[in-house]
Amino acid sequence: MRDLSAGPRVLLKRLRELMAEPLEPQERLDQIVRQIASNMVAEVCSVYVLRADGVLELYATEGLNKQAVHLAQLKMGQGLVGTIAASAQPLNLSDAQAHPAFRYLPETGEEIYHSFLGVPILRAGRSLGVLVVQNKAQRNYREDELEALETTAMVLAEMIATGELKKITRPGLELDLTRAVTIDGDSYSEGIGLGYVVLHEPRIVVTNLLNEDSEKEIRRLADAIGSLRISIDDMLSRREVSMEGEHREVLETYRMFAHDQGWVRRMEEAIHNGLTAEAAVEKVQSDTKARMIRLTDPYLRERMHDFDDLANRLLRQLTGFSPRTVADGFPADAIIFARAMGAAELLDYPRANLRGLVLEEGAVTSHVVIVARAMGIAVVGQAAGAVALAENGDPVIIDGDDGKVHVRPMADLQKAYEEKVRLRAKRQEQFRALRDVEPVTKDGKRIKLQMNAGLLVDLPQLVDSGAEGIGLFRTELQFMIASTMPKGEEQESFYRSVLKQAAGRPVTFRTLDIGGDKVVSYFRGHEEENPALGWRAIRLSLDRPGLLRTQLRALLKAAAGAELKMMLPMVTEVAEIRAVRELMQKEVQHLSKFGHTLPKKLQFGAMLEVPALMWQLDELMEEVDFVSVGSNDLFQFSMAVDRGNARVSDRFDVLGRPFLRILRDIVRAGERYQTPVTLCGEMAGKPLSAMALLGIGFRSISMSPTAIGPIKAMLLGLDVSKLAELLETALDDHHSNQPMRDLLAKFAADNNIPL
Ligand code: PEP
Ligand code: MG
Repeated sequence: MRDLSAGPRVLLKRLRELMAEPLEPQERLDQIVRQIASNMVAEVCSVYVLRADGVLELYATEGLNKQAVHLAQLKMGQGLVGTIAASAQPLNLSDAQAHPAFRYLPETGEEIYHSFLGVPILRAGRSLGVLVVQNKAQRNYREDELEALETTAMVLAEMIATGELKKITRPGLELDLTRAVTIDGDSYSEGIGLGYVVLHEPRIVVTNLLNEDSEKEIRRLADAIGSLRISIDDMLSRREVSMEGEHREVLETYRMFAHDQGWVRRMEEAIHNGLTAEAAVEKVQSDTKARMIRLTDPYLRERMHDFDDLANRLLRQLTGFSPRTVADGFPADAIIFARAMGAAELLDYPRANLRGLVLEEGAVTSHVVIVARAMGIAVVGQAAGAVALAENGDPVIIDGDDGKVHVRPMADLQKAYEEKVRLRAKRQEQFRALRDVEPVTKDGKRIKLQMNAGLLVDLPQLVDSGAEGIGLFRTELQFMIASTMPKGEEQESFYRSVLKQAAGRPVTFRTLDIGGDKVVSYFRGHEEENPALGWRAIRLSLDRPGLLRTQLRALLKAAAGAELKMMLPMVTEVAEIRAVRELMQKEVQHLSKFGHTLPKKLQFGAMLEVPALMWQLDELMEEVDFVSVGSNDLFQFSMAVDRGNARVSDRFDVLGRPFLRILRDIVRAGERYQTPVTLCGEMAGKPLSAMALLGIGFRSISMSPTAIGPIKAMLLGLDVSKLAELLETALDDHHSNQPMRDLLAKFAADNNIPL
């Protein structure tokens, strides 16, 4: 490969000096374009910078009419310059006027120039401006000249990114880098957060751009690539990377890329053109990113992301960069931006400072989202391009209700959101004031309000919300966020911590409910066409008694000397409950044989989620100590609607007559057998549906902790006997077309019940 000829090398050396000189920004820009023009034997060299309003403005020129500086402008996508910025691709033309996008700007006097070479000024794949050289004669610029111009553009990108050009930006205008942007994503966890951007993988800033000795830099690059390849091989040979599956697939792809000759060649070329090894990695990474942002094929995007990760690894090696420790300058109000993230990584951040999480990828059911929701922070997912658009420390608003992220928001938007947050805080304050108020309805019925939980991060909410206990502890969450199956002792110590933190308030542990949409990566069954109806929950536990017995033992040991309340998910036949009870008995015998202290009381319950149990209500109520209705699943199965598919699950109403009648039958069966009945699905946490539940006879419900306040406010104003009377007739009315939801809403409005 040919090294840069003496000319470009001299240019880069001169640019390095210029960057260090104490010059005014306009003067520095003017000198840069002059140097480039003379060095590349071009008659014209110009720099266009992208403004926040999407206009590319001429900031400096050598050769064109100087009067046009700060006046000549083109919209993004308009003319050759706008095309380069929009596509983030260079244009090399021997006859510029012949190009269909050519647009003549009379103020510049450029009509006499024929050949044209323009490159985007890129940062993290984003166009910040365009750098152009032009010649009168029709000529083709060589590949090395294009490379040299791209290298120079990196210097300009740095100048724009450091904010130096702000000083010479006309009043009232802003550069694109500081533009307010709104990213549309999906709402994964509700809530609003105001704060500052924290990039989960902070961008590695390469400040040492230009090399002194390219051979030395080539060697540095080769060494870094060498260690990168070794580290990937190391990872692949580790035992925990199973022989197949996603993890291995990703690493295999990394290995393939790390050996990709095209990638290595492009970086070497950049070094020969005068960059340091790290700047070369960054340049090729930025070029790749520019393409990636514009890709629509999800598979290709994923592969490009792999390249991006690999480049980051290389950069870390070459710059000796290690991510900032979290404590170091971490903002008090942090909104984390990441492409994707593991649940454990989120837990590493100081919880008190987290206001939101923005993910470019992810799914509502991904573990990190489950944890974020448990922590009560707003999450927006599928926020395309978020990481490239934001810089560490940028002000940002996350709107988890609408799935929007406002980066560098304008003052009026900021004000509106501050007001929203203030109102919410005020409402929360009112709910908090109810925390110690007994939940008794207007007509004197005592209601038991409990909360749902699944992680240790949930526990402080028990005291904060004023919940009486935990009505549903989803034990599968511990399994879902772990990378390997939690061992018996780990489970035991986890349950012990839960009970300790609950400090005497009852906790209802639900045994493992994996399968369906709850995926545990290290425990994969076969692909199932209908996982919701497949091998899951109690079915899986009974087929793998070792797994279930380990959990039962852990629960029994953790609750030694105290009360243990547990229940089984997705029961279809009462016989399944009996089978688990037998296993439980064996565990109890085993533990007492070895002298362990047993729980002083054992309460054994079942969840009612499968409609088949509706025709076994008598034996069910006789069999168990309590029943908890899982209305999320019971609704999906009885109405035949996928709970994860908004297309259909919004169609049928939990407050419709059929479902309310099902629930009423359950309550009546519980009353017949004096078996306590509770409900722990999402409908318990919505004031209107919770009101309906009380109206049909529920006296105990369990919900997300943030719902306790609003539900308590509702029931304090409710005359439940009056509602029961109304429902009794309305539910059995065979001729009414009035939706039950409307009837309930009218009742609430007529009786001033806060919803
Ligand atoms: C339910 O199905 O209503 C329930 C509470 O269980 P999960 O949401 O965990 O399936
Ligand atoms: Mg369920």
